[in-house]
Amino acid sequence: MSEERETPGASTRAIQAGLPAPEQGAAFLPGPTFAAPYHLAGDPDATSYGYARYANPTWEALEQAVGALEDGRTAVFSSGMAAVTAVLVSRLGPGDVLVLSRDGYPTVRALAAGHLEPRGVEIRLFGAGDEPPVEGASLVWVETPANPGLDVYDIGAVASAAHAAGSLLAVDNTLATPLGQRPLDLGADISVTSGSKALTGHSDLLMGFVSTRDDSVADEIRAWRDRTGAVPGPFEAWLAHRSIGTLALRLDRQCATALALAEALESSGGVAAVRYPGLPGDPSSGLAARQMRRFGPVVAIDLGTRRRAERFLSECRLAIEATSFGGLHTTAERRARWGHGDDVGEGFIRFSCGCEDTADVLADVQRALAAA
Ligand SMILES: *Cc1c(COP(=O)(O)O)cnc(C)c1O
Repeated sequence: MSEERETPGASTRAIQAGLPAPEQGAAFLPGPTFAAPYHLAGDPDATSYGYARYANPTWEALEQAVGALEDGRTAVFSSGMAAVTAVLVSRLGPGDVLVLSRDGYPTVRALAAGHLEPRGVEIRLFGAGDEPPVEGASLVWVETPANPGLDVYDIGAVASAAHAAGSLLAVDNTLATPLGQRPLDLGADISVTSGSKALTGHSDLLMGFVSTRDDSVADEIRAWRDRTGAVPGPFEAWLAHRSIGTLALRLDRQCATALALAEALESSGGVAAVRYPGLPGDPSSGLAARQMRRFGPVVAIDLGTRRRAERFLSECRLAIEATSFGGLHTTAERRARWGHGDDVGEGFIRFSCGCEDTADVLADVQRALAAA
């Protein structure tokens, strides 16, 4: 899949996504519309803009943009977790079964355990190599590549199993972004993306998206958002839209650096393990090459011990110690510092390649590793 050239290409699509038709004297991307109520006289159905919890033209343009990239109908939310919650909580009730990937963003499992299980939803976890335990399932949820361990789930195979059991499949597409993989093309019913990571990529806002080609699912997700109010502010929505124009450029640099870094670390001593789905020889590389176009900005680096990982981070000059991933700035963190959630060792580092020059990132890592 990664070999095919799409027309128009990814940069062209990212730059044009969601822009209005040209209009003499108008901005390419109109500025944010700030409103709570709008003017609305008489019949409330006279306009779709009555009250801004239901509709805002700035978000709608952003939804068009992400919908164009995911090739689905998209609803925007105030954060990735608000988007996750819209899918999980609106669709699951007492007696339902949620089948969930064992690894991936820990807050998703915490939401399921803390708020769905007590309301009578059965939760079953499974790993990337396992048969998904789909019997009687209502919803299957996988994050792929699953951060921080970077195992890849076979979206087509999980979709077939889910559908055979009468279940929907939702994929968390945050790490890859819709330019890295298109879950809806691969058989998923719902694609969820946090916009707080690579999709907008400037480490300056929180956002989330739910995309689907199923109109009844899209309508239910919209109804959930109308009632719960998990909507973004117009300024953040506008910033997000502006940022998506450079998505392909940013990702291409990030992914090139990530691959170069993974290759360099693989052949250097002193690293216990390195994972990157685009690395030939990675356990996931064959599957990743089949279902992904870009392999993402994150490299998983295991330095063996907490002490080495902490020394490595303190020796980095360019890489900023911070959580999250996918931004312009190279960042890294020792995941086990959170003390919960991820199934990784004490020396495990999630390393997110930014858009700096590849040679500078490599030099920083190599110097910091030597010093650690
Ligand atoms: C960050 C993240 C989320 C949650 O997104 P927020 O915007 O932080 O709420 C969900 N899934 C994955 C894979 C993430 O990395």
